Amino acid sequence: MLSWDELEKACSKCKKCELHKTRTNVVLGVGNRTAEILFIGEGPGEQEDLRGEPFVGRAGALLDDMLKIINLNRDKNIYIANIVKCRPPGNRDPHNTEREACIDWLRAQYELIKPKIVVCLGRVAATEIIDREMKISRDHGKWYYKYFNNDNNDLEANYENDSSDKVKMMAIFHPAALLRDPHKKPDTFIDLKELEKEIKSICTRTL
Ligand code: URA
Ligand code: SF4
Repeated sequence: MLSWDELEKACSKCKKCELHKTRTNVVLGVGNRTAEILFIGEGPGEQEDLRGEPFVGRAGALLDDMLKIINLNRDKNIYIANIVKCRPPGNRDPHNTEREACIDWLRAQYELIKPKIVVCLGRVAATEIIDREMKISRDHGKWYYKYFNNDNNDLEANYENDSSDKVKMMAIFHPAALLRDPHKKPDTFIDLKELEKEIKSICTRTL
């Protein structure tokens, strides 16, 4: 298993996919490395690429506002990462090959943090991490209790006696989707309150 130092060093030089050619900075993640809650977005945008930090543009400002409602803060009690660590040109969706190339970095972050709760921001993270068949408009705010980034049912069966590695996961709308369609905000408020309830029930160091 990699240490944080090893992970940072190796990831900052990564050329495992084409996205390395157009990036300014690798955007590994931000926040408390001992947090009980891990948020996962899609990939860096323009501002994130320039600054080397996730969610620092308009969507990031909205995310911070949303998190504040339930007393979550990237400088205190959560960690935020993305599916891909380098910016897809023009903010297109990351290709499957790019997601597959990059997912080991996120897995390493997950193993180091060992969060109690994972929150996926939007469709790309939800389908990559929770379940391929997820539809964010239908399944946002629902709890899943599964292995991280594993929708292989056979493996699930093999491990059925060992629940220690399963984690509570939920997807909510991506803040960029809320900027495009503010009508989604009330649903997200309800999802955040559900998240807060679960945090109060299973987290001991967060609120
Ligand atoms: N959108 C994302 O999914 N991640 C970021 O870091 C910024 C915007
Ligand atoms: Fe490496 Fe991920 Fe960047 Fe591709 S997106 S070069 S896999 S860090």
